[in-house]
Amino acid sequence: MADIAIGLHGGCGTLDRSLQSEAEWTEARQHIADALRAGWAILANGGSSLDAVEATVVVLENSIHFNAGYGAALHAEGGHELDASIMDGRDLRAGAMAAMTRTRNPIRAARALLESGRAVMLTGPAGDDFAAAAGLDMVAPDYFTTERRVKALASLKARAAQGTFAKASEAEKHGTVGAVARDRNGHLAAATSTGGFNNKPIGRVGDSPIIGAGTYAADGVCAFSGTGQGEIFIRCVAGHELASRIRYGGQKLGEAAHDLVHNTLGSFGIGAGLVAIGPEGDPVTPYNTLGMYRGWITTRGEMVVATHGELHALGAVG
Ligand code: ASP
Repeated sequence: MADIAIGLHGGCGTLDRSLQSEAEWTEARQHIADALRAGWAILANGGSSLDAVEATVVVLENSIHFNAGYGAALHAEGGHELDASIMDGRDLRAGAMAAMTRTRNPIRAARALLESGRAVMLTGPAGDDFAAAAGLDMVAPDYFTTERRVKALASLKARAAQGTFAKASEAEKHGTVGAVARDRNGHLAAATSTGGFNNKPIGRVGDSPIIGAGTYAADGVCAFSGTGQGEIFIRCVAGHELASRIRYGGQKLGEAAHDLVHNTLGSFGIGAGLVAIGPEGDPVTPYNTLGMYRGWITTRGEMVVATHGELHALGAVG
C-alpha cells in the first residue's frame, strides 16, 4: 500500500505582503487548509487521487483569494474565460475545458469530460453546454467578477497605456490553482484551474487546460500542475518536460522540478512555480517569485501552508 500525500498551489502571483490585511492573509491560508483537508479526507478513506485533486481544486475555485472560478482574472473586455484540466496518472485519461463562462466549477466540467471519454478538450460555449447537460451548477458570467479584479484590470490597462506593463507585479498579472495527489494504490493525479491573466486577449487559451503543458500525471513518474505565464509553459511543454527529466533523464523529482522552474522556465524571464508529487515521498513546490500560495499534507499526515517564504506548520490532520 502506498503512502498517501497531497499538495496544492494557489498561483505564483502572490501579492506583496503589505497589500493585504493580516485578516485577509489568514483567510487565504485558511482556504488553502480547507482545500487540502477536502482532498485528504478522500485519500484517507481509500478514495482515488483523481477525486482528491478535483475536490481540492473546487474549494480553491470557490475562494475569492485565487485566480480560478469565483474571483478569477478578467480578460481585456472585462469578462471571464476560464480554463481547467484534470489528468489520471493511472491510464493517462484526461479532460480539459477552455474559455468557459457559465460553469461554476470548471474543474468539475473537466472531470465530467474525462469520465465521458468523448473528447479530451472542449472550448467555449460547447464546454458550458456540456457542463449544463452533465448537471453541473451553472451561473451568470458576472458571478465570477470581484471588485479586486475590476481594480486590477483598470490598473493594468493604465500601465499598458503608459507602456509600463512589464513592470506590473506578478500578482497584478496572473495566478492559477492546482493540486496533485497520490492515493493508497499509488495512483497519481493532477488538476489545474485558472482565469488566465488580467487583461488577456479574448480567446486566449493558456497552459492550464493543455495536457502536458500546465497539467500532467503518469503513474510511477510524477503528477504536475504549473503556474506562471502560460505561453512559456506551453512552449516548454512544462508538465511533460518534468516527467521526461525523471523518466528518461534519471533526475529525482525535487531536482527536476527545481531545475525546470529556475533554469528552464526562469530563463525566459517569467515568474513560474509548480506543485508536483512522485510515486513516493512528499510534494515539492518550487517557485521563483515573491511568493506562491501553496500547501501540502505529508505522508505522515502533517499539514503545511504558506504564501511567502515562511512555512506555517498546522500539525497532524485528524
Ligand atoms: N498559467 C496561467 C495561464 O497562463 C496563469 C498563471 O498561472 O499565472 O493561464
